[in-house]
Amino acid sequence: MQNLTILGATGSIGTSTLKVVAQNPDQFSIYALVAGQNVEKMVSLCEQWQPKFAVLESEQQAGELRQRIRHLPTQVLFGQQAMCQVSSATDVDTVMAAIVGAAGLMPTMAAVQAGKKVLLANKEALVMSGQLFMDAVKHSGAQLLPVDSEHNAIFQCLPTDIQTQLGHCDLQQAGINHILLTGSGGPFRYTDVSQLASVTPEQAIAHPNWSMGPKISVDSATMMNKGLEFIEAKWLFNASREQLKVIIHPQSVIHSMVQYCDGSVLAQMGNPDMATPIAYSMSYPERIIAGVEPLDFMKLGELTFLEPDFARYPCLELAINACYEGQHATTAMNAANEIAVDAFLAGRLPFTNICAVSERVMSKLCTSNEFRQLDNLETILELDRMARSYAHEYVRALS
Ligand code: NDP
Repeated sequence: MQNLTILGATGSIGTSTLKVVAQNPDQFSIYALVAGQNVEKMVSLCEQWQPKFAVLESEQQAGELRQRIRHLPTQVLFGQQAMCQVSSATDVDTVMAAIVGAAGLMPTMAAVQAGKKVLLANKEALVMSGQLFMDAVKHSGAQLLPVDSEHNAIFQCLPTDIQTQLGHCDLQQAGINHILLTGSGGPFRYTDVSQLASVTPEQAIAHPNWSMGPKISVDSATMMNKGLEFIEAKWLFNASREQLKVIIHPQSVIHSMVQYCDGSVLAQMGNPDMATPIAYSMSYPERIIAGVEPLDFMKLGELTFLEPDFARYPCLELAINACYEGQHATTAMNAANEIAVDAFLAGRLPFTNICAVSERVMSKLCTSNEFRQLDNLETILELDRMARSYAHEYVRALS
C-alpha cells in the first residue's frame, strides 16, 4: 500500500490520478490533497477520500473548507509551508507533483529533498531549477518518475539502467542516437499564420486530442509546451541539443520515441489519456489497470509526421535556444510565459504577443551577469520574481 500526497488534486492531472487510485484501491491510500483555490472541488474530494490533510493556498479558503468538512477527520491547513510539510512527511511514500506553474516548485522540491517517490507532472519546476533539481534527486536518493506523456513514453522505451540514472545517464553509451519528442501541433496547426493574432482563449484551449488545464492547453497551442518539454527532456535524460528532436504528429497516438544506433526505433503508443502515464508512474516497475480504452489499430487510419515550423511556433524556437543558453534563460522565460498566458486567457493580450512578452523579458534579464550563477533556490526565486514584474510591464505595453 502506497501512501500518497497529491499536489494539484483539483486539477486535470489530480483528477486523473484519483481515477487511477479508484481503480486500484488495495494499492494506494490518500494521505494529503493539496490545491490552490477551488474550495468546492476540495469539499467533494475530502468527502470521497477522507485524507489525513487537505491544504489550500490561503487562510481564508482553508477556513471555509474547515467549516464545510468539520464532520470529517481531515485536518485543513494552508500555505506553502504546509504544502511542503505534507510532501515530505514520514508517512508519505509517493508525491504526485501536479500543481501548475512555478507555484509547484517548493512543495515538489520538499518531496525530492525528503527522498520520496516523486511523480513529476509539474514540468515548470524542472524548467526553473534544472541542475539544482536533478542534483537534489541524486543527493537525497529520491525516485523520480516522469508523468508528462512524452517523457513517460521515452522512459518506457529506455533500458532499465538508464531509467534508474535519470539526470546522469549517458545516452550514447546506451546506444541511443536520438530522443524523438512528438507533439500534436495544437489546435492551430493548420490555421493561417496571419490569423493567429485574433484567435480567442476558447479556441486556444480546445485541444484536438488531449483534455488538460487551461495553462498547458495554451502552451500546447503556442508549442511553448513542447519547448518546456524539450528543456525537461534535457534534464531528465541528460541529452544534448543534437540528441533531442521535435516531430509534429497530429494524431497523438505515438507519445514519443527513442532511436537506437542499430536503426531500431522504440515508440510508446496508446490513446491520448493521461491515466496511462500516471498509472505507469504510480506502479513502476509493475503495471496496473488505468481504466483507459485499448488502442484499436483498425480505427486509427493514418499516422502522419511533420517538421515544426518556427514561423508558426516562435515559442518553441525561443525555448530550444533558452535551453542551451542556460538556467537564467529558462527560469526567466518560464516566469514571463506564465504571466503572458494568464493575460491572454483574461483577454488582455493577443495570442501572438505571448512570445513577444517572453522575448522582451529574456533580453532584459539575460544580458546582465547578475543571474548567471543560479546555484540556489533563493536566487532562482528572485529571478522568477523580477521576470514576472517585467512581464507585467510588457503585457501592458503589448495589449
Ligand atoms: P490544472 O489547471 O487543471 O490544475 C492545476 C492544479 O494546480 C489545480 O489543482 C490548482 O488548484 C493547483 N494550483 C494552482 N496554483 C496553486 C498554488 N499556488 N498552490 C497550490 N495549488 C495550486 O492543470 P493540469 O492538471 O493540466 O496541469 C498540472 C501540471 O501538470 C502542469 O505543470 C502541467 O504542465 C502538467 N501536465 C499536465 C498534463 C495534462 O494532461 N493536464 C500533461 C502533462 C503535464 P485550484 O484549481 O484549486 O486553484
